[in-house]
Amino acid sequence: MRRYRFLIFLWTLLLLTGCSATPEEEPCRYELMAMDTIMSLTIFGKPAQEAQDILQQAAGQIQDLDALLSVTDEGSEIYRLNHSDGAPVQLLERTHELLEEALELCKTTEGALDITIYPVVRTWGFTTGEYRVPEEAELSALLEKVDYTQVILDEENLTLPEGMELDLGAVTKGWTGDQLIALFQEAGVTSAIVELGGNVQALGTKPDGSPWRVALQAPEGGYAGALEIVDKAVITSGGYQRYFEQDGETYCHIIDPSTGYPSQAGLASVTIVSDRGVQGDGLSTALFVMGREKAETYWRTHPDFDFILLGEDGTVTITEGLEDSFTLYGDWENHPLEVIRK
Ligand code: AMP
Ligand code: MG
Repeated sequence: MRRYRFLIFLWTLLLLTGCSATPEEEPCRYELMAMDTIMSLTIFGKPAQEAQDILQQAAGQIQDLDALLSVTDEGSEIYRLNHSDGAPVQLLERTHELLEEALELCKTTEGALDITIYPVVRTWGFTTGEYRVPEEAELSALLEKVDYTQVILDEENLTLPEGMELDLGAVTKGWTGDQLIALFQEAGVTSAIVELGGNVQALGTKPDGSPWRVALQAPEGGYAGALEIVDKAVITSGGYQRYFEQDGETYCHIIDPSTGYPSQAGLASVTIVSDRGVQGDGLSTALFVMGREKAETYWRTHPDFDFILLGEDGTVTITEGLEDSFTLYGDWENHPLEVIRK
């Protein structure tokens, strides 16, 4: 682990900050590795030195959140919670905010998102990379410890019943994106784009006033489509993002909390387009677990976001809010596309 961290540190140093020296319209870009992924932050419209300072602050913010929310880092607040043996733990204000949001998403998705899934995720090897297919009995025993409704969050403390463990991996990057956009806004930036390992969050428009164009990854590699956005988060959960194969079966990192097995709901990916990253991130994971029909029902009752579902059968389903801004691309141009309307 220590060696791994050192390599990440070196990698972070090697990645670039790029700012042009003069024109204010030029982008200033910063790349780093954090939360197990490559991140890229780009802001426009600020003089080079000021832009670099803002990006340094943003990178510091990412590293702070990573250290706070990592499930494996022994110094993190989540690690402390996961080793609290049933005792209440006083939370930092921002962890409290995130947990409040995450628990609310667990509730509205009726447990398709369940942040107490960690014992199951670990058993499949998704945190360590030591993958294995557990026995059914082992999974049923672990599922006894998976139930977000038993997490007690009061004004200051979180109490986790003994044996239960949290994993915020499904919401952390979206939440981090929201914090970065807020930081940019406070610094007076009006045009920025952050890419946190496949998640894209945009502030405002491009400097010329036109929308950002975001590519949608195809499960088999390459691109399936493109989306134009202004001031939105575009967050994707896909079975192809992390998985392992054994005896001809593919097991992905998104677990159905009702079975303990990797979700097999017929979707290759779910992309959520929303105002806030934390919502998009939580919902992309949850709707992947729900599958197409339930995802549609969820959207009808909570219509404050849009989605793009890529089915394992090659079908594409989008909600009506994206009709004018989403186009299929390349090999995907001829795939069947359905628009869901209210
Ligand atoms: P994402 O890539 O945002 O879909 O998040 C997937 C990550 O969240 C996994 O790597 C696990 O750490 C965790 N996870 C997997 N399944 C669930 C679930 N049903 N609810 C909450 N977290 C999950
Ligand atoms: Mg997610």
